[in-house]
Amino acid sequence: MKQATTGLLLVVSGPAGVGKGTINAELMKRHPEVRMSVSATTRAPRPGEVEGVHYFFKTPEEFRRMIDEDAFLEYMHVFGMNYYGTPRAYVTEQLALGNHVILEIDVNGARKVKQSFPEAIRIFIAPPSLAELRARLEGRGTETPEQIERRTQEAYAELKDMPNCDYVIVNDDLETAVRELEAIVAAERCSVPHNTEVINNFLGGIES
Ligand code: ADP
Ligand code: 5GP
Repeated sequence: MKQATTGLLLVVSGPAGVGKGTINAELMKRHPEVRMSVSATTRAPRPGEVEGVHYFFKTPEEFRRMIDEDAFLEYMHVFGMNYYGTPRAYVTEQLALGNHVILEIDVNGARKVKQSFPEAIRIFIAPPSLAELRARLEGRGTETPEQIERRTQEAYAELKDMPNCDYVIVNDDLETAVRELEAIVAAERCSVPHNTEVINNFLGGIES
């Protein structure tokens, strides 16, 4: 009997600068069956960001058209200025192919996904401390001091969502954090809720 063939939907959240992108990139390097959903956004590309790799960059008009077409699994105004959204088609396609899909979205988006997709697994990446979080944001060098200030304030609100998640990983040592994420994926693949088809096949065989 084969293990479940549909993939896992992994919703990874945590404050900006905590290391979500770094951890997810490492997981994908090690596991080719792990895919990253590419979000759409109306914010301007940062230096080095590539269309279709980091985001699909949209005008507000294009984004609103996608909302009207119900093309998003979830979307929202994250910082009151820009839209961010998860295109639905890629996620459902990849899960059906048996690939695991990572959504790297804010906590409000994560909550919405869990409501419409209860089998999604919510993983919160926490910093070892708030001081270290700020140091990483500064070290990344992609935000202005004002943006760093705002994102640090946002971090407090995001951290409050930790109890609503299924797992928490503290990203202190990077290798440990990646191994913990690998362990979560391995365990969830074998979980009873993810293997109902396998279980029902066995039970059906016994009953008939
Ligand atoms: P996020 O995707 O959560 O915004 P990034 O992955 O861009 O965060 O990481 C922010 C910065 O912190 C990057 O410069 C990255 O290299 C660094 N970083 C990530 N994980 C660690 C870690 N465990 N220890 C030290 N620095 C880290
Ligand atoms: P950034 O501008 O740094 O790339 O992302 C800002 C915030 O938007 C981050 O918290 C990120 O997780 C979130 N985000 C990115 N894509 C999406 C998305 O598709 N949906 C939601 N809800 N949030 C997203």
